[in-house]
Amino acid sequence: MIIDVHTHTPRHRTAPPAAEQKLDALWRPDQKASTAHTWDDSVAAMKMVDRAIVFNIASDPRGDVPDDGQLIYATPQVNDDTAAFVRAHPEKFIGFLTVHPHDPRVMEEIERAAGDLGLRGIKLGPNYQHFDPLGEEAFRVFKRAEELGLPVLFHQGTSPVQFADLDFAHPRHIDRVAMAFPELRMILAHMGHPWQIDCFVVIRKHPHVYADISANFYRPWSYYNAFQLATEWNVLHKLLFGSDFPIASPQETMDALWRVNDVTEGTKLPRVPEDGLEAILHRDSLALLGLE
Ligand SMILES: [Zn+2]
Repeated sequence: MIIDVHTHTPRHRTAPPAAEQKLDALWRPDQKASTAHTWDDSVAAMKMVDRAIVFNIASDPRGDVPDDGQLIYATPQVNDDTAAFVRAHPEKFIGFLTVHPHDPRVMEEIERAAGDLGLRGIKLGPNYQHFDPLGEEAFRVFKRAEELGLPVLFHQGTSPVQFADLDFAHPRHIDRVAMAFPELRMILAHMGHPWQIDCFVVIRKHPHVYADISANFYRPWSYYNAFQLATEWNVLHKLLFGSDFPIASPQETMDALWRVNDVTEGTKLPRVPEDGLEAILHRDSLALLGLE
C-alpha cells in the first residue's frame, strides 16, 4: 500500500489556454514545473499510488496576499473543485478542504466542506495565507478540526514567494498548537525544510503530529541530512510519503528515496537505514490520521 499524503487538486478539467500553462522555475531548483495540471495529469501521476490526499489553499479574503491563480484561490470555489475531482475518482483520492482563518465565514465553510462536500481534513499555508498559526482565529479552526476529527496539513518551511512570511511557516510554532489540541492529527509538510530538525523535535514529542517528506529531494545533501537527523532523533517512523504533485511526482519521490545514501559513497558518513526508508513508502498514513 502506497499513500501520497500531499498532492494539489487540479484546477483544470482539461488543459487551460497556453498562457496559463507556463513552466515556472520558482518551485524547484533542478527543473521547471507547471501548476496548471489537469484532472488527467493527476490521475496519470497517481497510478503508482493506492490512495492520494488532494487539496489546495484558500486565498486571503482580506486581499493581502496575491492570488497565484492556480493552487491558491478563494473559497468556496477551491473546495468545490477538490470535491468535484474526488467525486470523479473516489477509490483513489481523499479531499481536504481549505479555509482562511480570517474569513468571516470560516466556520460555515468548514461545516459545508466537511459535511456536504465530504472533505476529510484541512490544508493550511500560514505563510501563503498570511495568518499567525498561534493567533486566536487559527485556534478556532484547530478547535473545530479536533472536534470533527479532521487532520490538518500545514505547509511548513521555506517558500520562494516574496511576500509569504517565513516565520508563519516555522515548525516550532506547531509545538504550541499540539499542546493546546493534543487529539488533533497534524502533518508538517516538507519536513519543515530547511528547518527539518525543528520539525523533528516537534513530531518527536507529540504522538499525533507527523511530517511528510515531499519537496526535499531536489537538494540531495539536505535530503540525506534530514533522514540522518530523523534517524538520530528516532522519528523515521513519523515520516509520511508525499510528493507535492504537480511540483514533483510520487514516482520521482520514490526513486529519490532509494538514492538518499548516494552522497555517502566513498566516505565514512553513516547510511540511513534502508528498511527505515522503505517503511516510509509503505506507511499506513490513513490509519495514523484517523481516515480509515
Ligand atoms: Zn504542496
